[in-house]
Amino acid sequence: MIDSKTRERITQAIKDGRLPRHRPARLWGGSGTGRPCPACAEPVQVTEVGFELPPTGPIAVGAPPPEEENFLHQRCLAIWDEVIRELNADKS
Ligand SMILES: [Zn+2]
Repeated sequence: MIDSKTRERITQAIKDGRLPRHRPARLWGGSGTGRPCPACAEPVQVTEVGFELPPTGPIAVGAPPPEEENFLHQRCLAIWDEVIRELNADKS
């Protein structure tokens, strides 16, 4: 029921460059930190498993590390995966 809203948020975040448009070579999974998930804005609880996406774009030399981590719920990562697949198919 919240999926369509989450999809919208994810699509917007990808367009804004806050979430990557391609699957990284490696995904880091772990338990949550209580920080909000960028996809659904709900916190990823410490009792939940989440996945971290790397920051988007190249990081400039000397730039500070991004303050916000892209730590998503497992279910949100699955939605993100679908969204990027569709976006990348559109591009052709
Ligand atoms: Zn989420």
